[in-house]
Amino acid sequence: MNIYNQIFKVIKKYNTIVIARHIGADPDALGAQFGLKNIIHRLFPDKKVYAVGNPASRFKFFGNNDKLDNSIDTKKSLLIVVDTPDLKRIDGASTSDFEYVIKIDHHPIIDKFGNIEYVDDEACSASQLILEFAYENKIELTKEDGELLFLGIIGDTDRFLHDYTSVKTFELVTRLLKDTNVDFTSLYKNLYHRPLAEVKFEGYIYSNITITENGVAYIKLTDKLMKEYGVDSAAAGNMINDLKFVDEITIWIFLSEDVKSNLIRANIRSVGPYINETASKFGGGGHIYASGARLKSWEEADDLIKAYDELMKDYKKLN
Ligand code: AMP
Repeated sequence: MNIYNQIFKVIKKYNTIVIARHIGADPDALGAQFGLKNIIHRLFPDKKVYAVGNPASRFKFFGNNDKLDNSIDTKKSLLIVVDTPDLKRIDGASTSDFEYVIKIDHHPIIDKFGNIEYVDDEACSASQLILEFAYENKIELTKEDGELLFLGIIGDTDRFLHDYTSVKTFELVTRLLKDTNVDFTSLYKNLYHRPLAEVKFEGYIYSNITITENGVAYIKLTDKLMKEYGVDSAAAGNMINDLKFVDEITIWIFLSEDVKSNLIRANIRSVGPYINETASKFGGGGHIYASGARLKSWEEADDLIKAYDELMKDYKKLN
């Protein structure tokens, strides 16, 4: 019995199942969460399945998130956490409230948790893991499952651009497309359509980004600036990958002020040194080439820039 069969066995056992993902939901987290919810719901219509967490208005086409109410006895329920390596970033559920916890993730481990902890940090996405879970358990997918999981994979790989897009990814996606007949080109608009204001804002970023001598590019995006451009604090995060192939840039950081949450969000990417360890020193984390952090102040943001500049200095000496 492989790990996916073991997970399926536990799912069969529980009548109430809560599926959680990380805060700041992105397409992969949502694709994995709603894809799994759909599958369980269809196979076991009598089970109660909740997909929890704060809704992400930008990605509402994935589905509506559920609220946990008092009628749910979590002590007799199963919690499945997808796409989340750390306890503090689980959105809408607490592992200690549940009888049984399963973690399914593709990030390097930060916190070890879960009665079953399944982590494949070489998988391109959590959605790929859910797709594998389905095929390993001979579960037939519907078009809707296919759409959710396809969009999750597309989101995290940026259309098969990033590392960890593998032969396995293409094999699984090919099978998904054949089995479910997903009209995939028509799905892209869900992820990529955006207002002109955001395109202009991206123009601002490109024109004003600072690049250090060591190849760290960064930009500070204040609340005032974002208001002027008519974009929200999450806008920059959706553009961060677009600087992947720029001659002068090895590490790049977007710092966006989020007044509502009283923090500065850092999106960090690299095509050189691993960046997740430095991010974790600032309370963040992520993948080796794609990380993030939530910072308390612009002073801390400056410290983060300095830390990455040091990292780049060392990297340049060795390369
Ligand atoms: P983002 O720049 O938001 O797309 O995030 C890139 C990667 O960093 C994702 O894998 C996230 O899970 C991770 N990440 C982002 N923000 C944080 C954070 N505050 N703490 C830990 N990991 C984060």
